Amino acid sequence: MSFSTIVIGGGVAGLSAAWALVRRGERVLVLDGRSAAPRASLAAAGMLAPSFELGPDEIPPTASVSPVEKALGDFSRQSLAQWPEFAAELEEVADTSIDLQSGGILGIAFDGRDLDQLRLRYRAMADVGAKVELLSADEVRAAAPGISPAIVGGLFAAGEGQVDPVRVIDALTNAITRFGGRIVTGIVTAVQHSGAGVEVMLASEPAPVLADRAIIATGARNLTLKSLRGEAALPAPVRPVKGEAMALSLSALAGPLPFVVRAPGAYLCPKADGRVVVGATQLEDRHNISVDQKAVDGLRAHAEKVAPCLEGIAECGRWAGLRPGTPDNAPILGPAFAHDRRIIYALGGYRNGVLLAPAMAQLAADGANSSDIHWPEAFAPARFAVPKTLARAVG
Ligand SMILES: Cc1cc2nc3c(=O)[nH]c(=O)nc-3n(C[C@H](O)[C@H](O)[C@H](O)COP(=O)(O)OP(=O)(O)OC[C@H]3O[C@@H](n4cnc5c(N)ncnc54)[C@H](O)[C@@H]3O)c2cc1C
Repeated sequence: MSFSTIVIGGGVAGLSAAWALVRRGERVLVLDGRSAAPRASLAAAGMLAPSFELGPDEIPPTASVSPVEKALGDFSRQSLAQWPEFAAELEEVADTSIDLQSGGILGIAFDGRDLDQLRLRYRAMADVGAKVELLSADEVRAAAPGISPAIVGGLFAAGEGQVDPVRVIDALTNAITRFGGRIVTGIVTAVQHSGAGVEVMLASEPAPVLADRAIIATGARNLTLKSLRGEAALPAPVRPVKGEAMALSLSALAGPLPFVVRAPGAYLCPKADGRVVVGATQLEDRHNISVDQKAVDGLRAHAEKVAPCLEGIAECGRWAGLRPGTPDNAPILGPAFAHDRRIIYALGGYRNGVLLAPAMAQLAADGANSSDIHWPEAFAPARFAVPKTLARAVG
């Protein structure tokens, strides 16, 4: 059987693109490396938090954001707006809940320095039209009684929230299969142009799998791409950025901790099943998903400082995943070859791959079907290509 599209990678980026395509009646095959290349998507906390992800948490955001950050902010809010419909359709077809919570996200401050950072973030987000509000310590405590009395203020982003990413992956898997898509375990070794379509080589099969086109959604992993004429693929410089997280088992959360709380050192995501996911560390260039026990103990200590009601609560898991980062930490979206749209990149969700999934999937699916699509320039793979004159000078 030949396929219209082969999606390589069964994380949230690949499955969301596959879901968009099967709904349009396409014959889709998803090839996923599973345990040989674990999915970051299963390690995510699932926050949909554009207002808190404008810049790295460690650096106070400034009003003067770069063009790529501006494009990423706009794209993040666009994707946030797509989540309710994306979730409703998925839940209906998969007949399961993905725990979408849109009740807002609260950032808190323990001292004047934290508060200054929240105020800067507030200004930057209010400037781009986000529904953000600065709260006094009393207002924070009234909204979330489980939060420490030591806090001095907060920033509330209405309409932002979270999903349960494990449920999202299960629901996507289920929905794609119900619509006739196939999801198969296998490591892809290369993808190349062939005739009018593409050939996908698997480590386990001597013969290639054929399709009209391919979407590359391999997360933090690189893949070899070849054109028939020897043309080089545009670069897709992804890198792994390890993140560790944990979960505590607290039931009846609606009272003390009714929504996601972000604080210096940790964020707390109360899930519908009674878990509170606490994250996350951030380590560059680690290729394994082993857990540093001390670092995760540190997350727990931060979480207990934020919400003293968590002290003594049983832990129900700790884990790690590799976020797909890029040099500017914005996605890589668009055709992999300058003049040919048969192979499309859908990579680089970095810290926000779950948030960005609906918007990335829509673009990838539109781009697979039509040449008449406007790929955002800020996310074009060409931005990482070395100009020919410079390459000649260096070479
Ligand atoms: C601790 C932590 C917390 C996070 N929290 C959030 C959050 O709150 N909100 C948010 O939006 N994002 C969050 N993220 C980021 C988010 O998880 C990622 O951006 C997102 O999951 C990336 O999805 P993906 O599909 O691109 O990659 P992945 O989920 O990694 O999927 C890529 C898939 O490609 C497959 N693959 C790779 N190479 C091959 C190959 N050669 N052949 C076949 N298959 C291959 C792999 O097996 C894998 O299954 C978090 C990440 C971590 C680690």
